[in-house]
Amino acid sequence: MPELPEVETTRRGIAPYLEGLRVRRVIVRERRLRWPIPEDLDVRLSGQRIQCVERRAKYLLIRAEAGCLIAHLGMSGSLRLVESGLPAARHEHVDIELESGLALRYTDPRRFGALLWSEDPLRHELLSRLGPEPLADGFDGERLYQLSRGRSMAVKPFIMDNAVVVGVGNIYATEALFAAGIDPRREAGSISRARYLRLAEEIKRILTLAIERGGTTLRDFVGGDGQPGYFQQELFVYGRGGQFCKHCGSTLREIRLGQRSSVYCPRCQR
Ligand SMILES: [Zn+2]
Repeated sequence: MPELPEVETTRRGIAPYLEGLRVRRVIVRERRLRWPIPEDLDVRLSGQRIQCVERRAKYLLIRAEAGCLIAHLGMSGSLRLVESGLPAARHEHVDIELESGLALRYTDPRRFGALLWSEDPLRHELLSRLGPEPLADGFDGERLYQLSRGRSMAVKPFIMDNAVVVGVGNIYATEALFAAGIDPRREAGSISRARYLRLAEEIKRILTLAIERGGTTLRDFVGGDGQPGYFQQELFVYGRGGQFCKHCGSTLREIRLGQRSSVYCPRCQR
């Protein structure tokens, strides 16, 4: 599933090919994504000049003169640039053709993604209640400490709550808790301020590293046919249940926590 670093990598990859250019037309081959693609998307976007491509949480905001295309990659979505008119394979649901002769192509085998139109995207119901960006100044350990007081839920689902901070998905929550030495099952309200300061730093460090790694694959956004811009990051615990901890050699445990798989080291994380 694309997490925040993949979405940010996608933004950086596609933005130079979109910004400042006019849309020629929009071709929709399959409208049934998580929500239906608006019937009038072609009418609204055609002829519009794209001003910028921004990101908020895992939403890409492709801003045009009259409004904004909100894109979410869901479980399996991707965006890349192809020559306009290139025949579409299965799952290649949408082309946004540009005056440059390239087209932004949306592919999504599982169709859990979304392409929506909004004149005021930050007030859209999907975005209006989101917490701060994890890499912005508005997010820090003090916020985690204050919001967690009196909360009995486990710390891992707490930091994955979009109202607390956006974009900390399962991979990065699992890895950041390991790096900070915090047991994912621990009650959010029982963790000290000092440990939350450390945890917030680890979240920022790990997400920043992932985005930097993603940056090395930007050339893949034009042409090619694979999944663009995804990267392999060295993972210490995520997906490694039953294997040895890279720090202490103990066997990593895998549990279910908040309906999500979670791996931790019983010795390094307390
Ligand atoms: Zn360990």
